[in-house]
Amino acid sequence: MYSVRTKKFPLSNKGSNLVKEDLIFLERAADVEYRLARQTVIDYWKNGEIEQEILCDAQSMLKRNAIHCGAAIEERCPICELGEIYYVTYVFGPRLPAHGRCISTKGELQRLDNRKTHLSAYVIEVCPDCGWNHLVRTASLGGK
Ligand SMILES: [Zn+2]
Repeated sequence: MYSVRTKKFPLSNKGSNLVKEDLIFLERAADVEYRLARQTVIDYWKNGEIEQEILCDAQSMLKRNAIHCGAAIEERCPICELGEIYYVTYVFGPRLPAHGRCISTKGELQRLDNRKTHLSAYVIEVCPDCGWNHLVRTASLGGK
């Protein structure tokens, strides 16, 4: 399977990237955590019940967004155990691109959260090395 190594990507915009702590305010009472589903999938894979190609199917754009817009969470990939995990945040809603807006700064996230219209945020965990990706959480934004 085609694999992109992290080292090929320039890390020039590291300073402006989201960090894990920036994402915490996204959590609200109605948010759904996907930790259990994630662990179930990993357990299936460890037992040989799911092929790695199915788990590690991140498109190249998602891998690039992970590095350039995502927050490195200082955890190793549960699948390849080499790649660094990034949390990438996409926001969907009125006046946003149909494929969602990939959020790269805390200010951008706060501006969207201040909108009057309701928006949906999806945080996805991505390993740019092997392509592992999994939904971490969904959250509602805006509507204030
Ligand atoms: Zn990986």
